[in-house]
Amino acid sequence: MSERTQVGIVGAGPAGLVLGHLLHLQGIHSVILEHRDREYIEKRVRAGVLEQGTADLLLEMGVGERLEREGLVHHGVELRFDGVGHRIPFDELTGGKGITIYGQQEVVKDLIAARLETGRELLFEVEDVRPEDVDSDSPRLRFRRDGDEHELQCDFVAGCDGFHGVCRDCVPDGILTYRERVYPFGWLGILAEVEPSSDELIYCHHARGFALHSMRSPELTRLYLQCEPDEPLEDWPDERIWRELHARFESPGWSLKEGPIIEKGVTPLRSFVAEPMQHGRLFLAGDAVHIVPATGAKGLNLAVADVRVLAEGLSRWFSNRDDSVLKAYSGRCLGRVWHAQYFAWWMTQMLHRMPDDEDGFQAHLQRAQLNHVVSSRAAATALAENYVGVG
Ligand SMILES: Cc1cc2nc3c(=O)[nH]c(=O)nc-3n(C[C@H](O)[C@H](O)[C@H](O)COP(=O)(O)OP(=O)(O)OC[C@H]3O[C@@H](n4cnc5c(N)ncnc54)[C@H](O)[C@@H]3O)c2cc1C
Repeated sequence: MSERTQVGIVGAGPAGLVLGHLLHLQGIHSVILEHRDREYIEKRVRAGVLEQGTADLLLEMGVGERLEREGLVHHGVELRFDGVGHRIPFDELTGGKGITIYGQQEVVKDLIAARLETGRELLFEVEDVRPEDVDSDSPRLRFRRDGDEHELQCDFVAGCDGFHGVCRDCVPDGILTYRERVYPFGWLGILAEVEPSSDELIYCHHARGFALHSMRSPELTRLYLQCEPDEPLEDWPDERIWRELHARFESPGWSLKEGPIIEKGVTPLRSFVAEPMQHGRLFLAGDAVHIVPATGAKGLNLAVADVRVLAEGLSRWFSNRDDSVLKAYSGRCLGRVWHAQYFAWWMTQMLHRMPDDEDGFQAHLQRAQLNHVVSSRAAATALAENYVGVG
């Protein structure tokens, strides 16, 4: 492998892979280091809602052929409460915009295939990645692979290694400010081999807790239930999951289709932002530097939006040493990040059953808020604009 590159990218999630491809399109050399194997990351089930801007970018980059063929374009979502559904029509409220349902693992598969076709390096199963001298003009990435020690000299390092990565932690103490909210609940998510029960997503508010009906394809349904943040999965045999889903989604004339559950997991809901998103020649992007609760479906979209700005900045720097966009990187991204945090918080507090609400005060506020959203065009437009993505 090259022992020198222009941009060393840590992590082959959506952020690292999109960045690598955008740089390739500008003729910029990069090496991507990923500590998992290819099969693992191609099967990792996570997000599935692409904002209009994310889908458009993947198409512009030339990696959207399968997305265009297999992605499900949606022009609305349903808000369901008191057993009644109310549709929020995105296209009508946002001048024709929509979202595309296409699993994150499919995006990752397409990006890996595109990367390998370019012949640029993408190294799987690297161990012990250590960013060094990131505040100098010649940062390095040291790592082990197949038992051998390597050193990769870089002009820049992109930390796209997710929340549990190593790049954020290599910034010296006192430079980053951390802000965090951990919600007192999580989501139990399942993937079931069954045709979706509705053409669009259903966000369901219920006294037993929040539920979400989503999908990954015409044959795969993704369903979520609000649960405890540390809910033991062994307490949730399949029959209990289906019973609970039926109870929360119950609505006259509508029924939930059941099928074999092929994936099950609990995700805690949290908001987290570290800022600034840069230190010296280390640029942090995606989950490495911010986490949003999944209620707003923004995590993957924010990761892609970050690296779009980063690729622009790096391209300007390599073409004529113009560092204006790199200097503005953190500020430009954080505006979008905090907006997404706000929207995800807004959706989360409107839809989830709040613990310690003995007198039902919170529940009454939620009902008032939901009624407002479904009866006021202005309020529904605010939800629609945020959901399809701002900017
Ligand atoms: C369990 C789960 C469920 C989710 N569900 C949803 C959802 O339903 N809807 C939604 O909108 N969002 C969801 N998200 C959020 C969304 O998936 C993320 O926002 C998105 O993956 C961010 O992309 P990323 O590239 O920044 O990070 P990641 O996808 O986390 O990619 C980081 C990559 O870096 C690699 N890596 C980590 N450490 C190292 C290291 N030391 N060296 C080398 N490589 C390393 C990892 O293996 C990984 O491949 C979910 C996240 C999780 C964790």
